Amino acid sequence: MSAVKNYIKSLFLWELLKGMRVTGKFFFTKKLTLFYGDGEKTPQSPRFRGQHALRRYANGEERCIACKLCEAVCPALAITIECDEREDGTRRTTRYDIDLTKCIFCGFCEESCPVDSIVETRNFEYHGESKQDLLMTKTKLLAMGETYEPQLAADRKADAAFR
Ligand code: SF4
Ligand code: SF4
Repeated sequence: MSAVKNYIKSLFLWELLKGMRVTGKFFFTKKLTLFYGDGEKTPQSPRFRGQHALRRYANGEERCIACKLCEAVCPALAITIECDEREDGTRRTTRYDIDLTKCIFCGFCEESCPVDSIVETRNFEYHGESKQDLLMTKTKLLAMGETYEPQLAADRKADAAFR
């Protein structure tokens, strides 16, 4: 019976008609296409997970205390941290690398950080032409933090309002 049904359906181009019905339904509705090349963009959430950054406190001190929680929680083993004690007895990283070729942008590093140091910015417009370009060193991460700090601070404030 189903073979006969399928035969009749294929004879009358049933699948094609079904497709045409969907096309027809959206033909006169508002178009969702964005002209990205002309600067049109979709809205982003304050929780958007883009390229990483390391933040500093307002006095310029690095937030990161080298606890290595982010390194331990990273499921992709993308983070490498080395640390040392400073003259004032505090501990800071001497190396903080994120390998973006391994990162899956899960946000676990951000979630685990007790001092809101490692974060993900809204920036997704970047590329690398070599593996080295996609290795976010401590210097690059801190520079990202400085560039995006106003947005990062505003996003954390907006996010706190949701919780
Ligand atoms: S976003 Fe996820 S995968 Fe990427 S560095 Fe952080 S914990 Fe690792
Ligand atoms: S970024 Fe945060 S979680 Fe990672 S080592 Fe520094 S303080 Fe710890």
